Amino acid sequence: MMYDVIIVGGSYAGLSAGLQLARARRQVLVIDAGQRRNRFAATSHGFLGQDGQAPEVIAAEGRSQLMEYPTVTWVQGSAVLVNQPVEGFSVRTEHSGTFHARRLILATGVVDELPAVEGLKERWGTRVFHCPYCHGYELDQGRIGVLATSPLAMHHALMLPDWGPTTLFTNGVFTPDAEQQAQLDRRGVIVESAGVRRISGERADLELDDGRVFKLDGIFTLSRTRISPLAEQLGCEWVDGPTGPYLHTNDTRQTSVPGVFACGDASLAAGSVALAVGEGVRAGVGAHFSLINA
Ligand SMILES: Cc1cc2nc3c(=O)[nH]c(=O)nc-3n(C[C@H](O)[C@H](O)[C@H](O)COP(=O)(O)OP(=O)(O)OC[C@H]3O[C@@H](n4cnc5c(N)ncnc54)[C@H](O)[C@@H]3O)c2cc1C
Repeated sequence: MMYDVIIVGGSYAGLSAGLQLARARRQVLVIDAGQRRNRFAATSHGFLGQDGQAPEVIAAEGRSQLMEYPTVTWVQGSAVLVNQPVEGFSVRTEHSGTFHARRLILATGVVDELPAVEGLKERWGTRVFHCPYCHGYELDQGRIGVLATSPLAMHHALMLPDWGPTTLFTNGVFTPDAEQQAQLDRRGVIVESAGVRRISGERADLELDDGRVFKLDGIFTLSRTRISPLAEQLGCEWVDGPTGPYLHTNDTRQTSVPGVFACGDASLAAGSVALAVGEGVRAGVGAHFSLINA
């Protein structure tokens, strides 16, 4: 069977793209490995109408509404190989065979590569975060640490005093220059330059190499983000973003490869659930228009 569109990634962006296409009565296949980026967090914030909801509940509700449409098929699992035969695209999955479609939407999100600090990975999404708007409020104006992974930590350090008293741990990554130090002083940010040894405790006790321990309520840090290898297989152009590459798209969310669209974190410098849903609409409509105009 030749689907109209295969969507790889059935989270917020992919579900939203699928909904537009399903409502246009197009044949859609969603392939999803179920590894949403925010699966480590108990609650999702900042998405109108769903603030404080569990991330999996938002996704499950979206999926159940999408699957009400008879032209939508769901395959659970990973897409591992994409080809461009004479017509359209073929997508091979790990366990469910190969599928064909006229258009392809990459809603594959990104993978976070976390800083290699002992105790950090276990607290990702519960005590260690990357987005103040998502999880800063719940720290209740408690003590906040910013763990630098690059000079971009300045951005976090200057924002976070709005959420609580902030200490910037530079961890040997960079040293603020005089102008940056003045900015930090104006925002009341304390700078600690000793190396970070580990994070432990029930909350986020941050221990430095010199033995001092900072009892923090939350830590903000920037991961490096990776996009799907499928984009590379297709030869999609990407943009070098502040935390990693993201896919270049035009106004209709088509990538540099004709017929391939992208949405959500995969094609944003910095994403959120709300943005993924909005961008999904654009990619779904973009793919639909390209089918109409073919
Ligand atoms: C810890 C944490 C907490 C967060 N909290 C918030 C918050 O409170 N509010 C907020 O707005 N944002 C939050 N975010 C950001 C939010 O998670 C992302 O912006 C959002 O998930 C992006 O949606 P997406 O659909 O683009 O990608 P994702 O939700 O990451 O989904 C991508 C989907 O594609 C699938 N996929 C990838 N490759 C393949 C493949 N080859 N084959 C099949 N399937 C594939 C994945 O398994 C996954 O299901 C948080 C992020 C993190 C890391």
